[in-house]
Amino acid sequence: MKDESIVDVAIVGAGIVGLMCAYFFVAEGYRVIIFEKEQEAGQGVTKNQSGVIHVVQLPFNSLKSKLARRGNPMYDDICKRLGVKLKRLSALLVINKIASYPALIIGYLYLRLNLRGNFKVSLVGKKTLQKMEPELSDSVKAGIKIDGYGVVDTEGMVGRLSNFLQNKGARIFFGCEFLSGSCGDELIQIRSSCGEFKTRFIVNASGLYSDEVCKRLGLEVAKLTPGLGVMLECSGLQVNNIIAPFSLIQSERTKGGGIIPTTKGTVSIGPTLRLIDDKKAYKVDDRDIISLKKKFFPLLKHEGDVVRVYSGVRPLSPTGDFMVYSFCNGRIISLLGIESPGLTAAPAIAEHVLLLAKQRSDSG
Ligand SMILES: Cc1cc2nc3c(=O)[nH]c(=O)nc-3n(C[C@H](O)[C@H](O)[C@H](O)COP(=O)(O)OP(=O)(O)OC[C@H]3O[C@@H](n4cnc5c(N)ncnc54)[C@H](O)[C@@H]3O)c2cc1C
Repeated sequence: MKDESIVDVAIVGAGIVGLMCAYFFVAEGYRVIIFEKEQEAGQGVTKNQSGVIHVVQLPFNSLKSKLARRGNPMYDDICKRLGVKLKRLSALLVINKIASYPALIIGYLYLRLNLRGNFKVSLVGKKTLQKMEPELSDSVKAGIKIDGYGVVDTEGMVGRLSNFLQNKGARIFFGCEFLSGSCGDELIQIRSSCGEFKTRFIVNASGLYSDEVCKRLGLEVAKLTPGLGVMLECSGLQVNNIIAPFSLIQSERTKGGGIIPTTKGTVSIGPTLRLIDDKKAYKVDDRDIISLKKKFFPLLKHEGDVVRVYSGVRPLSPTGDFMVYSFCNGRIISLLGIESPGLTAAPAIAEHVLLLAKQRSDSG
């Protein structure tokens, strides 16, 4: 009989990234366990986000940008296999001043150059925009249309992935906190609140807490900065694509949010970004709501009815990019700063982690 406490891969965190990693490892026949401190999967950063499968993430040469562009098309197949709702659409970056037209052209050429061969980018005039989006304000003059975006039912994805993994023999320990791991010659010894295990590999996919989990694995890393993001969910709006104001100047930390049709038929607006001190400080301030309304409602003919205000906290990376640390002779793979577009990139992150583990296995 096999010793159930010895496994191939132990994953810390059942968010979208940990689950996606498990999905890729299980497909290759690895015996996988997942530790999740909450009672259900997807209750961390993955819970309150915008569900957008992104195309544009600047700078284009960053790891997060490359993994998002690789992860984006992988969603079609994964959603089909798991029966998860995915709606493909475009992003419309719009201007409402003729004076912004030269900047729009520069932006168009830049995006076209960087996305060529993979995602179609076109310039669209007022008439086309209004045909595509009757809800757009008359003040909107022109825009850039970027194809290949998507919105996904993330809750559905998390639920389906968890069931699929468990049916394939992976074990998810809910309400179980990963406490420590010590690197041995062949196996890593794990202590958790639900028992002790031995594993060949550990994947640290603990989101906002991955800096603390690194410490528990014996590696000191720079602290993650929590970044609060507030979203408004509205009813009474009919929007077919993602709409956002165009700007040549991008903030270092955020793509700036948008008006986003959800898979539920509602429309989400946001997110904002505000740096906070406490990882658990999900509290929404009136300022967040006012700034969202001020930024996005002028792009539409009507203001929607706000039916829900919600917020999530991103694990902002100290380098501004995703960080992948490999230590213990390549047997501990730690994912840090998986901020936006971590949902989009999740399948590509998983593919990358699997490759690292296989390279380690091949080298003995
Ligand atoms: C407001 C907002 C909007 C966003 N919008 C988008 C978007 O539209 N598109 C996009 O691509 N990305 C978006 N993102 C980013 C995306 O949500 C994240 O990158 C992604 O969800 C991170 O997933 P994760 O699995 O790494 O982390 P998490 O979902 O946080 O998963 C980590 C898990 O680890 C568990 N855990 C932590 N410590 C331990 C421990 N010691 N033991 C056991 N379990 C532990 C946690 O409970 C948690 O469930 C958004 C983020 C925010 C905040």
